[in-house]
Amino acid sequence: MDHIFDTLFTNADIITVCDEMPVIKGGYIGVKDGIIKVVSEGTPKSHSAKEVVDCHGGILMPGLINTHTHTAMSLMRGYADDYALQEWLHEKIFPLEAKLDARCVTLGAKLGFAEMLRSGTTSISDMYFFQPQVASIVEEVGIRASLSNGLMSFDKANFSYETDRATQETLELINSWHKMANDRIRADVSIHAEYTSYPSIWRYVAKLAKDHDLTLHVHVSETKREHEECVKKYGLTPVQVLDREGVFDNNALLAHCVWLTESDMAVLAERKANVAHNPVSNLKLASGIADIVAMKRFGVNVSLGTDGACSNNTYDMFEEMKLSVLLQKAKYSSATVLTAYDAIKMATVNGAKAQGRYGQVGQIKKGLAADIILIIGEALNLYPNFDPISAVVYGANGKDVALTMVDGKILYRDGEFMTIDTEAVKHGIAEYVMKKLF
Ligand SMILES: [Zn+2]
Repeated sequence: MDHIFDTLFTNADIITVCDEMPVIKGGYIGVKDGIIKVVSEGTPKSHSAKEVVDCHGGILMPGLINTHTHTAMSLMRGYADDYALQEWLHEKIFPLEAKLDARCVTLGAKLGFAEMLRSGTTSISDMYFFQPQVASIVEEVGIRASLSNGLMSFDKANFSYETDRATQETLELINSWHKMANDRIRADVSIHAEYTSYPSIWRYVAKLAKDHDLTLHVHVSETKREHEECVKKYGLTPVQVLDREGVFDNNALLAHCVWLTESDMAVLAERKANVAHNPVSNLKLASGIADIVAMKRFGVNVSLGTDGACSNNTYDMFEEMKLSVLLQKAKYSSATVLTAYDAIKMATVNGAKAQGRYGQVGQIKKGLAADIILIIGEALNLYPNFDPISAVVYGANGKDVALTMVDGKILYRDGEFMTIDTEAVKHGIAEYVMKKLF
């Protein structure tokens, strides 16, 4: 029998993240062939669907978009806490990462993807190693991902693009994985950071972005020290010196941006660049508090990210939503300077813009891909529900997610993962990764 819908969600409050009507109280969503076909208030006239999901008054919203992460760092969760960034990176993380192989990274990616789907994340921008192998895990698991491996070099004299692993992985991603799996997988290009490379590399990556029309992902002005050393070295801020080399000419995604100057913000607005704000990581590594209110005033698109699990230590985007707003309220001594709806937008539609996926995901709207999450209505911490937006940002956490759908497929529901054997993943990590790395 031919059904009108593959999946019909009924009896829910819907956060659409469409400004003309951000919330529909008591409505339904019909999904067919991976696409949102109907969004409406009330009850559907026809229940012709392969599967009807009664949401029992829960909240439906677009899947959360994590625009800055290093997923496989899930393997190092809790391994090096309470260090300052430079020390953390050079003494704890880089030596450990030198020992990683594809098997470690794919196991870490699976662990991270499971946690992400469990807590309502449907799309990520991931910068890490062994990304072509991770791409095949993305294909298998069903999450949406923009993947890159950040170019890095401390030894200009001996650097060669032909032998550099990050360069070769980037080219393989572009040639073999870009827009594959119904466009769930994208190849991004990436410069790890200003302080881990130099201008000829920036120009090379910027050209790749331009030639293939790709998003460029880079860490920028995360710490005061990094920002100030760049000014000393080049007489320019990281944003200014990267801009001088054309790094922001294509769609650019800048992680952190804690120490931006106002003129940096003007440059980013001019270039239509995007900033991934990572409040938990920035607090944990004592990097500072990014001024996202000022960025917003300049017209810079700000999205949210968790960063890697070693500096967070979770992939729960609900924490980022709540903190992003609370920090600015405290910073500005103003309870109105940023709202719960701003946080929802940063975690959804702004993330879609940052990934170059605006109009594909990030909103509940007819014609968009069905990346949808359901937040349970009966949770005590969400009751009573005066305003679903407030409930999600101030009341909910990742454990309140009951169902996660990506591209029309339910990947997580009520404790069950459809595409990941989490026990096998944990077993693989215990038997292989722990012995190899630690
Ligand atoms: Zn990072």
